[in-house]
Amino acid sequence: MRYDVVIIGGAIVGSSIAYYLREEGFSGSIALVERDPQFAHAATTLSCASIRQQFSIPENIRLSQFTLKLFRRLKEEFGADADIGFREGGYLILAGENGLPILKANHEAQMAEGADIVLEDAEALVRRFPWLSAEGITAGAYGRSGEGWFDAHAMLMLFRKALRAKNIDFITADVTGIERQGDRVTGVSIDNGERLEAGIVVNAAGPNAGKVSAMAGLALPVEPRKRNVFIFEAREKYDDMPLLVDPSGIYVRPEGSVYISGGAEPEEGDGPADPADFEPDWPLFEEVIWPVLAIRIPAFEAIKPTRAWAGHYDYNTLDQNAVIGPHPQVKNFLFANGFSGHGLQQAPAVGKALAELIVHGGYRTVDCSAFGYSRVAEGRAFRELNVI
Ligand SMILES: Cc1cc2nc3c(=O)[nH]c(=O)nc-3n(C[C@H](O)[C@H](O)[C@H](O)COP(=O)(O)OP(=O)(O)OC[C@H]3O[C@@H](n4cnc5c(N)ncnc54)[C@H](O)[C@@H]3O)c2cc1C
Repeated sequence: MRYDVVIIGGAIVGSSIAYYLREEGFSGSIALVERDPQFAHAATTLSCASIRQQFSIPENIRLSQFTLKLFRRLKEEFGADADIGFREGGYLILAGENGLPILKANHEAQMAEGADIVLEDAEALVRRFPWLSAEGITAGAYGRSGEGWFDAHAMLMLFRKALRAKNIDFITADVTGIERQGDRVTGVSIDNGERLEAGIVVNAAGPNAGKVSAMAGLALPVEPRKRNVFIFEAREKYDDMPLLVDPSGIYVRPEGSVYISGGAEPEEGDGPADPADFEPDWPLFEEVIWPVLAIRIPAFEAIKPTRAWAGHYDYNTLDQNAVIGPHPQVKNFLFANGFSGHGLQQAPAVGKALAELIVHGGYRTVDCSAFGYSRVAEGRAFRELNVI
């Protein structure tokens, strides 16, 4: 079997690349290879499905803004019944005295990109959100529009459904090897022993991307990192609550009639997850998250934890930012990896960008050059400071 493009990983990133390839007029053959067609363990379906403008670097803001525009014209793009339940509830990122300079610098970068974020002192924040305790808080940045949350599964299904009419071969298989001859990859082998010859191979393998790159003999600093999400009920319902990020990194947001929270894992010194470990770490909620929530929102002293899940971040250990585009030497091997907790909201933009690169030979809509692999080869970090 010969394909012009073989995409490894059929969740949101792989599906988006396939979708935009056809939208950009690519007429060659495309195989979308996925080993877990129910997406039971994909980061996409286990994510918190939130979108924000509050990044530290303009390039990340631009990627999210592309997706935001798509969300606002979802029905035009995907049809009248398209609905991902997008709720524009905003983010509220809080800082104490120490975090203030970074919050201010980030806010300036966001304003320069036209984001609708206000920076307010603690007093103004408590006026806006009377349920909030300002203990230890100097200021916060609140997204009045353009930020919120949605249904990740519905978003994935929109892309997957749209692909059905686009002449894509969906292959259910585990990619077990990648063939390379010098500076070209030539094909992939799959677990039933077959071989798919490939003109271009795209790595969209999420948390498994480091291993998939290694199959082609290419180093990629992306590994799975376990992240827990806890659901709880509370007597008080705060309909105006944004996705609140405490200075400790712990976050909480409403999800219908309940709340979801997480963010207690340390970013540094946290090793790769066992690929089979999806067991929620309940003590993390009881010992770390809940005490913080009870201080920040005093009504949360009395809550009822109900459910939890764990997923794997596609974590880039170099700089917690995506690696996008071709390998500088092996030019027909393309990366779309290492999003480190913000890949769901960036996937449509990245799909569009890589499709433009393949079809037109360069980025046209969102320039992803800064995310290129050369920084990995040089060990040069392109760091995102707001990793949630
Ligand atoms: C708990 C949690 C919360 C998150 N919250 C957010 C958020 O609020 N906002 C946000 O934007 N992002 C969030 N993310 C990050 C986001 O989910 C990911 O960055 C994004 O989904 C990555 O998409 P992907 O398609 O690259 O990876 P995945 O969704 O993991 O898909 C990769 C696919 O590749 C397949 N695959 C891997 N290896 C192979 C192989 N060898 N052969 C065949 N198939 C293979 C896998 O089965 C999988 O389906 C969160 C992630 C987690 C875990």
